[in-house]
Amino acid sequence: MKIYVLRLGHRPARDKRITTHVALTARAFGASGFVLASVNDEVVVKSIKKVCDVWGGSSFEVLTGVDPVRYINEWRRSGGAVIHLTMYGIHIDEVINTLRTLGKDLLVVVGAEKVPKVIFELADYNVAIGHQPHSEVAALAVFLDRLFNGKELHLIYPDAKLCIVPSGRGKKVVRCE
Ligand code: SAM
Repeated sequence: MKIYVLRLGHRPARDKRITTHVALTARAFGASGFVLASVNDEVVVKSIKKVCDVWGGSSFEVLTGVDPVRYINEWRRSGGAVIHLTMYGIHIDEVINTLRTLGKDLLVVVGAEKVPKVIFELADYNVAIGHQPHSEVAALAVFLDRLFNGKELHLIYPDAKLCIVPSGRGKKVVRCE
């Protein structure tokens, strides 16, 4: 099952940090790609590439400037399912087992400010990570963690240059074997 994350509504002047965090969360929590809708932002792309270069994930695909409606339609046409994370959706507890066993590639859509109505309509599932407003980073992390039952937290990319030796105190980092 391939999982991509589509980030809507990125405003380069103010969202660089949070959009980078969405992408890094996608990578670290087991998604295979990150898609930035509508705009190109080299700062975001460079930050992700830098992390992939050191900690692995050269296979993690990053696309920018993508038309979101066209991308969603194409994803669905090729047999994938689209999950839009929104506080107004169906509670995650009600759908996560279904999504885990769908056997389809999943496109997880997160917004910034107001998400256009068309996204709610195009999504196969509008899913709430609780019904309180919080953040796209938190919503994505909880969604992927529930989807993978926490197993993604043991992920180490095979092409990582540096590896962490877990330590109760301080930082221990070694070149990966
Ligand atoms: N009121 C906005 C809305 O329409 O959901 C909140 C915008 S929030 C700053 C940015 C993004 O975080 C949302 O588009 C959604 O993807 C995600 N998000 C925030 N709270 C969420 C929740 N409780 N469940 C799922 N996604 C959430």
